[in-house]
Amino acid sequence: MKKSKEFGVIVCEHILDNSRVVKLVVHNYDSIWEFMCGESDHLDYKKSKVIGINHLIDRDSSLSELKKLPIGHFAEKKEFDDDWEIHEFNEEE
Ligand SMILES: [Zn+2]
Repeated sequence: MKKSKEFGVIVCEHILDNSRVVKLVVHNYDSIWEFMCGESDHLDYKKSKVIGINHLIDRDSSLSELKKLPIGHFAEKKEFDDDWEIHEFNEEE
């Protein structure tokens, strides 16, 4: 793993161009973090990019409380001003 001053997370194209706010945060089992708009209209996942988490927290300070989100969990909210709801993945199959 490369050392980096800033903590990088995967974002969808809408978060990247700042056209939508983050409403879905995923902490994957491989310890990769994803910050997504939560919509399902992503035509091209290859447009997902890695950016520094600090840029996202600058836009939405509520994201900083998700740093404690455990691996295998995701957080979502319906509106920008809502509280985050934390869920665990269902990976029983
Ligand atoms: Zn999106």
